[in-house]
Amino acid sequence: MNEFVERLLTLQWHELKRSYDVVIIGGGGHGLATAYYLAARHGIANVAVLEARYIGSGNSGRNTTIIRANYGIPEAVRFYQHSLDLYRTLEAELGCWFMHSTKGLVWLAHTEPAMRAERARCLLNIACGVETVMITPQEASELCPQLDLSGGGRYPVLGASYHPGAATARHDRVVWAYAQGAMRHGVHVLQNTEVTGLLRDGARVTGVETSAGPISAGVVLSAVGGDVSTIAAYADVRLPIRTHPLHAFVTNEYAQAFAPILSDTELLCYVSQTARGEIVIGAEYERQPSYSLQSSFSFLQSCAAKATHLLPFLRDLRILRQWAGICDISADFSPIMGETGVDGFLVTTGWGTWGFKAIPAGGEQMAELIATGRTPALLDPFGLGRFATDHAMADQGSTGTR
Ligand SMILES: Cc1cc2nc3c(=O)[nH]c(=O)nc-3n(C[C@H](O)[C@H](O)[C@H](O)COP(=O)(O)OP(=O)(O)OC[C@H]3O[C@@H](n4cnc5c(N)ncnc54)[C@H](O)[C@@H]3O)c2cc1C
Repeated sequence: MNEFVERLLTLQWHELKRSYDVVIIGGGGHGLATAYYLAARHGIANVAVLEARYIGSGNSGRNTTIIRANYGIPEAVRFYQHSLDLYRTLEAELGCWFMHSTKGLVWLAHTEPAMRAERARCLLNIACGVETVMITPQEASELCPQLDLSGGGRYPVLGASYHPGAATARHDRVVWAYAQGAMRHGVHVLQNTEVTGLLRDGARVTGVETSAGPISAGVVLSAVGGDVSTIAAYADVRLPIRTHPLHAFVTNEYAQAFAPILSDTELLCYVSQTARGEIVIGAEYERQPSYSLQSSFSFLQSCAAKATHLLPFLRDLRILRQWAGICDISADFSPIMGETGVDGFLVTTGWGTWGFKAIPAGGEQMAELIATGRTPALLDPFGLGRFATDHAMADQGSTGTR
């Protein structure tokens, strides 16, 4: 555990009980946020969050921390804007500083088709009440003076969209802040407790098998990120999800401020600066499905080459670390939240390369569904049933999902 967890949080650990109203599998952001809102907003605190390893050991502790709402379909724009709004007041609500910082995001275009895509993004975002505007290369350069507008002579910047509301937050702190908030309301959070099967009574799911024995539950929610296919298979549910690795790397400290987040669909990379001054660089997900957490030299080589075309100063920095996470990529690049068709078994999944920003809204909406039995309007378009009725929410609004 790090100093933040040991010294700045007050964590109330509990013994595992044999029965809960709600069991949530997975101690990542989505599982813990759902538990927190169930207890804090709906008074349902007889809840357990079961985590196979440690809190935040999945993608919630491995991501590049970007929070934004400039997506490509109206349902997603509204959903992520709500999450962005919740993030703005979350430090006060959870009583925990997680370094939330609004930076703005510049999304570069190097070709006419990319310019058209960015213009379309702006029009759609504005129609949904989200501020995203086209800017000229000179305006992009004013926002980000380190940017080489010639793109190293190969990728000239023709223009960009600018989304001023985009932010970052320290990912592991967000997850632990939700864990603390849930525990304060009486939720049991158990680490090193792996779910190895589901208890069934006929078609209904009635609990979970774990490494610490069976536990019964009124409702079981799977919030396990890239491991969702395994958990869903225990309930005989087949999801339109494939698990793909996503890589990122971080440099040593850059002495100057690097203000906005920079994103580029054509070069398939994005760049931002951490609170410590390091530069974090991410890319698209790996095409080959796999559960491998091994990052590769070829990723590092291609991503570093692309990023240095845009930002020549990166050549003088050193790469400190690279890593990978396994992402639950849905068939239409949108989340899947809610009922599964199996009584007592729900999922929050399909968070792919884009789910950190969604943690507050995803948790809030899933908690409302579990507590009231009614599907909230923001969540409604993202049900599993959309694939059967041909209402896929195709949205490739992320750098990682071209
Ligand atoms: C390199 C990288 C960069 C990213 N960058 C961004 C970004 O900038 N912005 C953004 O919005 N999103 C980003 N993402 C995506 C984002 O991190 C995820 O979508 C989000 O964290 C998913 O949260 P989660 O709670 O669903 O899953 P996770 O955080 O993965 O949590 C799932 C948990 O379930 C546990 N688990 C699995 N199986 C079991 C079991 N059988 N029993 C008990 N527990 C189990 C795991 O150990 C894990 O802790 C990125 C992801 C990666 C990998």
